[in-house]
Amino acid sequence: MNKQDVKKLVQVVEAYCTKEGMRFTDPRRHVLEIVAASDKPIGAYDILARLGERLDNPKPPTAYRAIEFFEQHGFMHRIESLNAYVICYADHRHEGSQFMICDVCGKAIETHLCHLPADLMARTRAEGFVVSGWSAEIHGRCRDCLNP
Ligand SMILES: [Zn+2]
Ligand SMILES: [Zn+2]
Repeated sequence: MNKQDVKKLVQVVEAYCTKEGMRFTDPRRHVLEIVAASDKPIGAYDILARLGERLDNPKPPTAYRAIEFFEQHGFMHRIESLNAYVICYADHRHEGSQFMICDVCGKAIETHLCHLPADLMARTRAEGFVVSGWSAEIHGRCRDCLNP
């Protein structure tokens, strides 16, 4: 995300927090900016390291709580297979998150199918299973890495 987009995102999130009566604290702002500025998914340890360049000796829970906050409100997604976080690119209110993850450059491209594909939906129904959330992580190579 370029600087301009990071700025816009910060404004959107700040407005959201104000509207919902939640605090947009300094650590939250910094963590949001750090993840947004990263061109690929970024792990909690790296987030903390970068937070240390901005704040005086931040404690790990400060970073983790901020990450958790953004995850809960849909502004960030955790990519399990990378143990890393990305900004939501599909507005922050959607069910299901799916990523195409490039194994060469490491970027994660979000898709946002809100509903399970029909085949999977049919399987869950057959099982009598109620879906509360789902995600998919598809590994491969992105267009840029295939055509350098
Ligand atoms: Zn999303
Ligand atoms: Zn790539």
